Amino acid sequence: MVLGKYKTVVSARSTDKEILEKSQDGGIVTQLFVFALENGYIDGAIVTGIGDRPWKPRPYIATTKEEILAARGTKYNISPNISWIKEATRSFGLDKVGIVGTPCQMQAIRKGQLYPIGLREVPDKIALAIGIFCMENFPYKSIQQLVEDHAGQKMQAVKKMEIGKGKFWVYTERGNVVSLPLKITHKYEQPGCHVCLDYVANLGDISTGSVGSPDGWSTVFIRTKKGEEIWNRAIAAGCFETTPIDQVKPGLELVTKLANEKITKNKKYIEERASYGVNKGLRNPYI
Ligand code: SF4
Repeated sequence: MVLGKYKTVVSARSTDKEILEKSQDGGIVTQLFVFALENGYIDGAIVTGIGDRPWKPRPYIATTKEEILAARGTKYNISPNISWIKEATRSFGLDKVGIVGTPCQMQAIRKGQLYPIGLREVPDKIALAIGIFCMENFPYKSIQQLVEDHAGQKMQAVKKMEIGKGKFWVYTERGNVVSLPLKITHKYEQPGCHVCLDYVANLGDISTGSVGSPDGWSTVFIRTKKGEEIWNRAIAAGCFETTPIDQVKPGLELVTKLANEKITKNKKYIEERASYGVNKGLRNPYI
């Protein structure tokens, strides 16, 4: 069960050119939030924009299509989106909150819904949780180091960053493309990521990432009843093009391989830590 429970998995991309223009891959998160907002499934979403420094993530609450679009693109640092849940419901008065996050953040949301200590009145207001695939993450200073020292580019000149095909890629506004082998990036990873056993956001209503699908498309797992309802309505409304996952390359085989690699490597690390008395870390509820 390294891919968690799901009802359907497809390869997909948004049909909205404006959404695709600056999205990381198939624009799935942006398109879903826009559809959910315009059709009353959510009345706002906690998304990740750019903070006070280039590519430094900043969570904010988007209540319009324009605000959702402003958050397009992956930032390779943790964005503390969970810390905005109370703000969304109390200061912004949202009753139906959309939220996007990493697998560990999906676990935090579900835990908060089960044991709402400090999250009074929040559990029922999470209306759509979208998880993104995550192999590892980086502190902001590490990203700076990778982009500026290793790739030789200015942070403010970067248009997009990406991890794929075994490399960390940096694309600049002026058309430079630099790739770094992952053996360089490994030592910059957040140590907490080495005890993480979830690659594909098992606990999202829907989870998505580029792995498994062709360039410009995303692999999408529809996991819950709520996720399925919103996804089916969005498909019926023409928001997405889809292709069965068994008809695309590299397909689920690669997703499964990477999920297994993450779990095997991190389980080994967890066991090592346990041997000298450190706790077991972040669990995957399905393995
Ligand atoms: S690897 Fe795990 S702990 Fe690290 S950011 Fe991703 S989901 Fe969170």
